[in-house]
Amino acid sequence: MQPPAPGPNWKGVETVTRYRVYPSRMQHDGLLLHCVSARFVWNLAVEQQSYYSRTRPWAPNSLARYRQLTEARAAFDWLRTGSAVVQQQALRDFDQAMSNFFGGSHRRPSFRKRGLSDGFRIVGTGPDHVRKLNRRWSEVKVPKIGWVRFRRTCAVGKFKSYRVTRDRAGRWHVAFTQIPSPIPSPGTGEIAGIDRGVIHAATASDGTFYDYSRSDLDAKVKRAQRILSRAKRGSNRRARVKFRAARASARRMDSRKDFIEKSTTDIARRFDVIRLEDLKVRNMTRSARGTLDTPGKNVQQKAGLNRAILDKGWAQFATRLEQKALGRVEYVPAAYTSQRCSECGVINSDSRKSQATFECVSCNFSANADVNAAINIAAGHAVTARGGDRKVSVPVNREPQRRLLRVS
Ligand SMILES: [Zn+2]
Repeated sequence: MQPPAPGPNWKGVETVTRYRVYPSRMQHDGLLLHCVSARFVWNLAVEQQSYYSRTRPWAPNSLARYRQLTEARAAFDWLRTGSAVVQQQALRDFDQAMSNFFGGSHRRPSFRKRGLSDGFRIVGTGPDHVRKLNRRWSEVKVPKIGWVRFRRTCAVGKFKSYRVTRDRAGRWHVAFTQIPSPIPSPGTGEIAGIDRGVIHAATASDGTFYDYSRSDLDAKVKRAQRILSRAKRGSNRRARVKFRAARASARRMDSRKDFIEKSTTDIARRFDVIRLEDLKVRNMTRSARGTLDTPGKNVQQKAGLNRAILDKGWAQFATRLEQKALGRVEYVPAAYTSQRCSECGVINSDSRKSQATFECVSCNFSANADVNAAINIAAGHAVTARGGDRKVSVPVNREPQRRLLRVS
C-alpha cells in the first residue's frame, strides 16, 4: 500500500527549530538591548491599547502606533540607539496579536516582564542571514550586532523569520520558523503500531523499544526545587537558587524534546503506516493492575521516567510524528489493546500477568506486554486518520508483521 503523497496545495506545517546561541560579551549586551527595546515598545502598545479601550470606543490603528514609536525614539536616547527593525517588528507582532485576539483564537496581548519573555523577532530573512562556520557551528546575522554564533545541532532548513530569546536560565536561543519537508515513506507496505507504556516510553509492534532514561536530570530538578523551597524569600541566595532551578528544568525539557525528535524520526523512516491509540476514546481498560505489579526496583525507577514522557510528551510525540510521517499516521480505538491476545484475539484481563509480561490464558502465547499491545494497535481499525487531505483510512491489504518476542 502506497500512502498518499502531499497534494500540490500542501503548504507544509510550520515548525520551529531552535538552537542555542553563544554570543560574545559585547554581543550579549547588544542582544539584551534589543530585548529591552522590543519589550518597551510592546508594553507601550499594550498600555496605549488599554487606555483607548477604556476611554474611547475605538482603538488606535497601527499607523498611530508607528507614529508614536517615532515620537518615542525622538524622546528617548537609549531607544534611538536601538535597532528600528527590532522595534518596528515588535509593533507588527503586537498588531498580529491584536488581530488574533479579535479573531477569538488568542487572549488579549499582555505586558511582558523582564526575564520572563525576553526576545525579539526578525522577519524577511533568508538563507543569506545564516552562514556555516564548520561542522558544528553556524552564525546568524542580527541587525546592528552582526554575526552571532549558534550551535547547529541539525540542519537549518528554509526559513522566513527567526526569533531570538533569552530563557529564565539566562541562555540565548535562536528559533527559525520553517517549513519542514516530510520524511518519505520507506515503501515497504509495513504497518506499525506504537504503544505508549510505563516501562517503555514507546514500543513499536516490531519489538523496538524507545526508552527515555535521564534520571540524573530528574534528580537535579528535584534537588534544586528542594533547595529553593528552603531559601528565604527576597534573599540574594533565593534569586541564585531560582536561576539554578530554572536551568535544571530547562535542561530536562530539552532532553525530553530531543528524545521525542529522535524517536519520531526513526519511526517515520522505518514504517509506511503508523498507528497510534486514539486517546479520546481511550478508557480505563488499562487498569492499575499492571502498575501495581511492577516487578523489581529497577523497573519501578525506569517506569517513573517513562511515565513522565507519557504524561507530558505524548501529545507532542503524536504531533511531531504526524508532521514527519505526513498522511501516514492513523488512530485506532484504545480499548482492550493491553488485554487482547495478538495471536488468537481472546480478550482476558488475566492474560496480562504483570506490567512486563503477557501470557494468553487461552492459547499460551507469551510476549512482552507492550509489544503485544503494539501489535494489537497495528491490527486495529483506524477510526481517524490525520495529515494530508485523507479523512478515512484506506483498506489495508497486508496484515501487520508479527515478529514474536519471547519475554526473557
Ligand atoms: Zn491467545
